[in-house]
Amino acid sequence: GAVLAVRDVEKTYASGTRALRGVSMRVLPGTVHGLIGANGAGKSTLIKILSGWQQASTGTVEWKDQPVDWSHPRQALAAGMAAVHQHTPLVDAMSVVENVFLGRRETRRWDAAARRAELLALCDRIGYELEPHQAVAELSVGARQMVAILQALARNPDVVLLDEPTAALSPAEREVLFRSIRRLRDAGTTVVYTSHFLDEVVELTDHLTVLRDGLVVVDAPTADVTVDS
Ligand code: ADP
Ligand code: ADP
Repeated sequence: GAVLAVRDVEKTYASGTRALRGVSMRVLPGTVHGLIGANGAGKSTLIKILSGWQQASTGTVEWKDQPVDWSHPRQALAAGMAAVHQHTPLVDAMSVVENVFLGRRETRRWDAAARRAELLALCDRIGYELEPHQAVAELSVGARQMVAILQALARNPDVVLLDEPTAALSPAEREVLFRSIRRLRDAGTTVVYTSHFLDEVVELTDHLTVLRDGLVVVDAPTADVTVDS
């Protein structure tokens, strides 16, 4: 079954805007699932609902075939759903390794050697090299993005939700990111990936859900989707 699903989700904001108008979607484990739509289509609203930042007005969210009612992002994270938002805050004055493990509840005291080894193992999983003790302030935009992704992976999630991760990247950085996402997927991590560029996700994703004005207009394996150029 699906690792994550939404069923008949509606979201009407206090302003009266119907951001989602009966959205259903199933994310299969071990896939890269693209969530596409122009500005205003409802992507952010859906992502907030999936990651516990907001609740649907009606409809259900299912995690591993069970209805869930995440009222706080902490609950989604504890279940195994980690989101990387466009502006994931990193602490510039701290090192890569400190940022990656920032906020993770530690049961034991900080063990520098163990954390460094764990970071290098995480880097290996995505095929990306970072110097653990480098200050985050010195990193490129692309490398900072990778630190944000590693911060999510440090929670050992089943699903990683990447919200417009290429928005600030150069084409070369984008290729590096795509390679990392494929590696993650091939190792069994499910990736939900949002973008407003359809062509870019056709290259990367296994399944596409396209939103327009709060409605699902395309929901199909990427191989079955024809892109007009
Ligand atoms: P709700 O309206 O369901 O309580 P939020 O608490 O997320 O939703 O929103 C708080 C307020 O933020 C909204 O009522 C609105 O005035 C404002 N707001 C935030 N983002 C937007 C947006 N993209 N368009 C319009 N208003 C927004
Ligand atoms: P996208 O991420 O695809 O650009 P959004 O989910 O941000 O779409 O927005 C969908 C619709 O809901 C838009 O019309 C937007 O203005 C509105 N909206 C988003 N957030 C809020 C909010 N907090 N309060 C009121 N309206 C909102």
